Amino acid sequence: MIEPIRPPQNIAIIGAGIAGIACALSISRELSPFVPDLKITVYERHDVLSTSGGAINLTPVAQRHLAQLGVLNELDRMGPEGGADVDAIELFSMRSGRGIGAINFTDHQGKGFGGYKGRRVMRISLSVAMLTVAERARNVEIVFGKKVISGEEFADRAVVRFEDGTEAVGDLVIGCDGVHSAVRTNFVDVDRPAEYTGLSFLQATIDTNSIPSRPHFRTSSLNISRHGSMLASYCDRDREQIFAAAIVQFSREALALYRLKPGQDWATQNKIRCALRQEIRDRFRKCAIPCIKEMIESNADWMLYPVYQVPPGGRWCMNRVVLLGDAAHAMPPRDESAAYALDDAILFSRILASYRSEPLAEVFDAYENLRRDTINRAFKESRRMWERNRDMGLLEGRLKEWMMTFHIRSNEQAREEAWAFDATKMALPTPAPSEDLVSLNSFLRDRTL
Ligand SMILES: Cc1cc2nc3c(=O)[nH]c(=O)nc-3n(C[C@H](O)[C@H](O)[C@H](O)COP(=O)(O)OP(=O)(O)OC[C@H]3O[C@@H](n4cnc5c(N)ncnc54)[C@H](O)[C@@H]3O)c2cc1C
Repeated sequence: MIEPIRPPQNIAIIGAGIAGIACALSISRELSPFVPDLKITVYERHDVLSTSGGAINLTPVAQRHLAQLGVLNELDRMGPEGGADVDAIELFSMRSGRGIGAINFTDHQGKGFGGYKGRRVMRISLSVAMLTVAERARNVEIVFGKKVISGEEFADRAVVRFEDGTEAVGDLVIGCDGVHSAVRTNFVDVDRPAEYTGLSFLQATIDTNSIPSRPHFRTSSLNISRHGSMLASYCDRDREQIFAAAIVQFSREALALYRLKPGQDWATQNKIRCALRQEIRDRFRKCAIPCIKEMIESNADWMLYPVYQVPPGGRWCMNRVVLLGDAAHAMPPRDESAAYALDDAILFSRILASYRSEPLAEVFDAYENLRRDTINRAFKESRRMWERNRDMGLLEGRLKEWMMTFHIRSNEQAREEAWAFDATKMALPTPAPSEDLVSLNSFLRDRTL
């Protein structure tokens, strides 16, 4: 007699970032009706939530998916700290101060797409909101202080080993541990380490009141120059804080000199802070926009975040292990990056539930077939966007400004169509009926649901 295939009951998720928590919530929702004793454990390397990372922009798609997971409600409950609504990211030339165009998160009537606009929120607020919702989920547990260092697969289980000498066993292990994923580099695809893109973010949060000039933007702006771009955006509903992020070319050699590390003495940290301030001033000192110039001249503490990527084309899965989010396909960050991590989580868990009577290999195949092309296209587009932040000459810089206006307009329709995407409604492949009784049963059951 053929043993029926059971869906995974004990699932280990590595990483409590956007993909990891979204995956835990979504699997809990999709699979628990079929697996009453479902157990999902999220293992996070940090002992406590990290307060670094600045603010993140959420597109209408990301907001829709966070709303479906119950996270947006939690963010709204936080009041001003739950983030600033973003109607549009306005683009300006730092050279002339002139407006170049806008990426609008509202339609002609001022309404968001499918009810959602953009939102700029501090990462720590988003993490707190996601963890609060996860804590309420009956079958989800989050364990901190568990840094994965290796792993191994067996016929019926996968094992991950932690730095503290302990290990966890799962019928299914999901690597959501970000761009430098230990799950990827230690067992799914050891030859695919993250690559430095040559570009970095220099980020700071600045009190609005400390800037004498009135900001030139409504909620969010991207100010471009031939030496990189400067993003300036409110990140709280009361507009008391401006999140500033310079996106600049930065050599690999310079990274080591400018990085703040735990355990560094005060004098070294102070030297790095002064050097970063000077770097910002040297690059953007000719800026024609008063409030940006004041931010540049201020004593803000800029932090360096090198940008890494994981080139597409590598493996996403083994027999019992799969990668989602940045662990699988970190692309140079753009406003849609978090949305891709959320889409991954929702689509994977829906496929897992609908293929619950199929072997995991079929789940992974169906997921990859659905996602690969979308991710490859998004990766190429991100690379193209990021190339525009490399240092360039005078004429090339002027050309970039002209092209930007054209580019924003010509991509408007594609952007708005992308914002209508709903991963909870996307049609999924169904398990193919086969002569195998188990597959046939699951096919028939899905048709009657
Ligand atoms: C500077 C910067 C700015 C960005 N701005 C935006 C933006 O404005 N909008 C946007 O949509 N996207 C933005 N992104 C991209 C976005 O942050 C990522 O796409 C998104 O966070 C991916 O989510 P993730 O869960 O896959 O990875 P992460 O958010 O990186 O989460 C990974 C988690 O795994 C944990 N982890 C790592 N290693 C281990 C291990 N060995 N063991 C256990 N746990 C581990 C980490 O501590 C972390 O909690 C930005 C990225 C950067 C770097």
